[in-house]
Amino acid sequence: MDNNDKLTGLYVFDEFLKVASERLDNAESDKLYVLISIDFSKFKYINRVYSYSAGDKLIKDLADTIVNEEGCVIACRPYSDHIISLFSFEKDAWVVEKERLKQLQDNFCNSHKQEYSKTSVHLNTGVCVIEDNSEPITSIIDKANIARRSVKGNYSVPYAMYTQKLQTIKEAESRLIPIFEKALENEEILVYMQPKISVKKGGIKGAEALTRLIDEDGSIVPPDIFIPVLENSGKVLDLDWYVMKYVFKKIDEWLKEGRTVVPISVNLSKLHFYHDSLVEDIMREFEKYNFPPDYVEFEVTESVFFEEADLIIDKIEKLRQNGFKISVDDFGAGYSSLNLIGILPVDIIKLDKGFIKNSLNNRKGKDIIKGLIRILNEIEMDIVCEGIETKAEEKIVYEFGCDSMQGFLYDKPIPIDNFENKYILMKAI
Ligand code: C2E
Ligand code: MG
Ligand code: MG
Repeated sequence: MDNNDKLTGLYVFDEFLKVASERLDNAESDKLYVLISIDFSKFKYINRVYSYSAGDKLIKDLADTIVNEEGCVIACRPYSDHIISLFSFEKDAWVVEKERLKQLQDNFCNSHKQEYSKTSVHLNTGVCVIEDNSEPITSIIDKANIARRSVKGNYSVPYAMYTQKLQTIKEAESRLIPIFEKALENEEILVYMQPKISVKKGGIKGAEALTRLIDEDGSIVPPDIFIPVLENSGKVLDLDWYVMKYVFKKIDEWLKEGRTVVPISVNLSKLHFYHDSLVEDIMREFEKYNFPPDYVEFEVTESVFFEEADLIIDKIEKLRQNGFKISVDDFGAGYSSLNLIGILPVDIIKLDKGFIKNSLNNRKGKDIIKGLIRILNEIEMDIVCEGIETKAEEKIVYEFGCDSMQGFLYDKPIPIDNFENKYILMKAI
């Protein structure tokens, strides 16, 4: 039997399984083994636009890049544009190697940019760090594939690591969808609110609507489990419409009751932007009411601006022309670029909680946050710092020039009744 793939010269799948298993059985104790699963985004499109032989060349180039990468033990091409490879590293070098992995993706894509200029060459990369060398190789491959699929088409992260959470999301997929559909039909999806605070004024200046789903056993499923499931199935659109209608109705109710209302933000999944009628659909709903649009803010995740810039800018502009506020959510979580800030037609930048946490614990990171806040202030962009948990964190970012905060220091997302009682009677700022 031929042990090598004709196009790439890599092992065929069966041979890979055999050799990789043997290698793991005889693993050296000071080595860490990592399995990497890669394919291209929109490979069909590349084949169609450039011809199959151009597609083949790209696969061959990727295969060559991978086998020449330091640490690569073996690789194979199970099918089409999909390549899996086993790497081994010194155990304590993994932190550095992770960085190299990011560069592999960037270098490969950049070096093919010109040749394939009609499409963006992009790789979906899933990584499974092998914790137990006796785990069957097929199970390790499954894990790396789960990680790869979790970032399919996501241009804002260089790769995904397999985690237990990804497994939970995958397992939850078939179970959660019927639970969601039933909850939607019975209007039982919970909408929680988390306040945004002005430090200077010492009070609330807005709030974010965040959803919760109730599981069959009565426990609450957090959004980081059910949102990815709903995004994969497209059902997140139904969720967002539900939340938006709910928020419009609440604002209207509160105003009619004579309460002091603050702007409420609703998260909009990127999937909405594939619908040409998005703005008209929102307006149709909004026009049922009679309150000013600046009570409503839409949060759109940073990554969406990278992936689908053309698709979204126009819709965002229209939403703003209609008077709604737009914020970029989770800024700094992925590949943020200062360039982007200049061209984004948005009102507010929400600095990502992870980005802030990681940055505030070292000198360089602090300087970056400080510089970023300064630039945003200079171009008169509003800033909200997410994930503020301690007074110390508040103090640092406040001194850097950010006044608006959201985080557990003030309140977690809380049920709507609590929120009304606690905040919505307060005088707005
Ligand atoms: P997000 O829009 O960035 O919302 C902020 C998340 O940060 C919330 O998580 C909130 O509970 C959490 N958070 C706020 N302050 C702190 C803090 O001080 N420390 C920590 N550790 N976390 C804090 P949550 O509610 O679990 O929501 C997660 C994500 O799910 C949201 O991130 C948003 O992207 C998505 N999501 C939630 N509801 C909806 C929805 O109705 N539609 C859509 N499309 N996405 C939603
Ligand atoms: Mg948000
Ligand atoms: Mg956020």
